[in-house]
Amino acid sequence: MFGLIGHSTSFHDARRKAMELGYDHIAEGDLDVWCSAPPQLVEHVEVVSPSGKSIEGAYIDSCFVPEMLGRFKTARRKVLNAMELAQKKGISITALGGFTSIIFENFNLLQHQHIRNTTLEWNRFTTGNTHTAWVICRQLEINAPSIGIDLKKACVAVIGATGDIGSAVCRWLSKRTGVAELLLVARQQQPLVELQKDLGGGRILSLEEALLEADVVVWVASMPRTLEIGSYQLRKPCLMIDGGYPKNLDSKFSGDGVHILKGGIVEFFKDIGWSMMELAEMDRPQRQMFACFAEAMILEFENCQTNFSWGRNNITLEKMDFIGEASVRNGFSTLNLKPQFEAAIA
Ligand code: NDP
Repeated sequence: MFGLIGHSTSFHDARRKAMELGYDHIAEGDLDVWCSAPPQLVEHVEVVSPSGKSIEGAYIDSCFVPEMLGRFKTARRKVLNAMELAQKKGISITALGGFTSIIFENFNLLQHQHIRNTTLEWNRFTTGNTHTAWVICRQLEINAPSIGIDLKKACVAVIGATGDIGSAVCRWLSKRTGVAELLLVARQQQPLVELQKDLGGGRILSLEEALLEADVVVWVASMPRTLEIGSYQLRKPCLMIDGGYPKNLDSKFSGDGVHILKGGIVEFFKDIGWSMMELAEMDRPQRQMFACFAEAMILEFENCQTNFSWGRNNITLEKMDFIGEASVRNGFSTLNLKPQFEAAIA
């Protein structure tokens, strides 16, 4: 059985969802009430692959909301409690979605393996970042040429280049895709210099400098809500792949020649019959999902229930090949830009 641990995009959405599910006492509570709310297994689902293999899964809402990010102990408790619930339910591979994998890594939750009388078994969990990185690279390779960008001549900026997903994207783009130039953007200089050394190339630039030069911009850092940059600074055409969370680039950039694609999103080949993606602002919530969630499903389909994506900067090109091939084989495709005429009438 596969599992997905997720959370609502905001406190407001979480309350709305809780009301719909009949948890009125929690829905009406303030943030303090939500901070002490336990995780909930809200949905069971059966998914059948193109070859007819059937797997079962469950969605666990951690009852975390991004407004809790500043409350270190609460965020830690939310993630660990949701993992404990997944394990107690006997789920063999669970993806840590949304902020949960970032909380796990950044708050070093590896030191908290014992939750009450449960010892968490790390091999039951995956961050899903290998699949996310592969999907973002394929989205770039498929969609840049479709809007007239020749990748062999293109300058690609990766914002969040030193992160787990960003560094994997950089490795793929420099070794596999072969883009003309890579621009590396993050706040801390030392990891950038180390990445540049590992890659044997790439230019370290500030965000503003990189945006002036890039034909393609891959965003794999959560975007500060206050960041304001005019589209006049961008090259045209420009492809922006919004791989971070929350996905809010379309409110920051617009204009002719600027194409914004939701990054790290895949579509299953048929409707799944679940409701868990409805709050995630997917265009087709019955089929579309975050690539990290899909990684748990793929590992279950492949009988490879293990912590495939784990820790930081462990994503190799070989692992990306494996998960990419398995993704296609099991009925997933990447989300792509809408053809021009469809976008015009949407
Ligand atoms: P990491 O924490 O490993 O990396 C974040 C990166 O962003 C680092 O390079 C960090 O470097 C950089 N960064 C952070 N803030 C800024 C800033 N203000 N300006 C420039 N760079 C910045 O994160 P992950 O790689 O695990 O995840 C990246 C994003 O992808 C997240 O937003 C996450 O939610 C999303 N995600 C999406 C998934 C999907 O399925 N679609 C699945 C998993 C994650 P520094 O600190 O030096 O600035």
